[in-house]
Amino acid sequence: MAAPIRSVYVHAPFCVRRCFYCDFAVQVRRTGDVEGWLAALEGELRAVEAEEAVSLAPRLETLYVGGGTPSLLGPSAMSGLARVLGPDRLTDPGLEWTAEANPESLTPDVAKSWRKAGVNRLSLGVQTFHDAALRWMGRLHGSEGPGRAVRTARGAGFENLSVDLIFGLPAHVGRDWAADLDAALALDVPHVSLYGLSVEPGTPLGRAVREGREPPVDEERYREEFLQAAETLAEAGYEHYEVSNFARPGFASRHNRVYWTGAPYLGLGNGAHSYLPPVRRWNIRDWDEYSRVAREGRSPTEGREVLDDCAVRLERIWLGLRTSAGLSVEGLGGAPRRMIGAWERERSAIRDGSVVRLTPTGWLLLDRLAVELDGACA
Ligand code: SF4
Repeated sequence: MAAPIRSVYVHAPFCVRRCFYCDFAVQVRRTGDVEGWLAALEGELRAVEAEEAVSLAPRLETLYVGGGTPSLLGPSAMSGLARVLGPDRLTDPGLEWTAEANPESLTPDVAKSWRKAGVNRLSLGVQTFHDAALRWMGRLHGSEGPGRAVRTARGAGFENLSVDLIFGLPAHVGRDWAADLDAALALDVPHVSLYGLSVEPGTPLGRAVREGREPPVDEERYREEFLQAAETLAEAGYEHYEVSNFARPGFASRHNRVYWTGAPYLGLGNGAHSYLPPVRRWNIRDWDEYSRVAREGRSPTEGREVLDDCAVRLERIWLGLRTSAGLSVEGLGGAPRRMIGAWERERSAIRDGSVVRLTPTGWLLLDRLAVELDGACA
């Protein structure tokens, strides 16, 4: 039997409306259907527990509830989730339990009830403090929302807080990236995640770009804003510990590390992905279809892929290069070593003994560099 799974991701799909650029597995509703959500998760978990090849540890080390907008599910959602998972699974004293929340739906009642249920880390969907940019994106909060959400979270006893910021917005939106970085620093939270705007074909933004109503992503602006954020956050004492993530000492996300180290994890909910080495699998994306299947106690797995040796090697290289822990180059032949030497000369990488680490400039090229290095290793 495979090693027991100690990390679980749970998808909460509900959002009041779909943001302009969003390509996630989202179900648009005015309120979250907490009972329907819990019933579907309960059914899916029954199906998972009946699988011989999957073994969920009696105690989890990390649990991450993402979305969608988990805070739209209201105060009872996390105690309900604990009941579904089995409260004993959430008794490890070191458990990191993160839930995402958006400023407009993180009420004091939600924050207090979630903290009481055991959530000990909140990730807030801030994106920007600029009102016109928030409207352009289709977000529901205003520029005062992030500050209020952080006060609400702290008032409920949360110290481990993260904020998400988006960069690379089109110039015509008028967003001031330096001002947003200053506003994020003023929140004094221990963790920041960055997301670059991407134009996905099936989104309203994708259609607008195709029809010429919006410009494509400005690559130079994207690059400059990423590097500016890396510099500003490093100067403010945050470690750039992964391509998109920054933390004060002791506040790096442990759940995300699971993804980057190739450890097994289970994803529950519509569209959720799992990694049960060497198998990747993913659930039905559509909420109605997923919940119908899961509530019957049947597996909602829609697809699976067995990683062969080549895929495992590329993945190891890609994952290693994306974190500040870097990639061990021990045992690599002459061609890969020469390639890494070229990266060092371009200031895309730093070699430290047998470990190579990408710089922020190198992280902008992560996908290309990983494929090139993999090609040199083949
Ligand atoms: S709040 Fe997040 S998940 Fe929901 S529509 Fe907006 S970007 Fe997508």
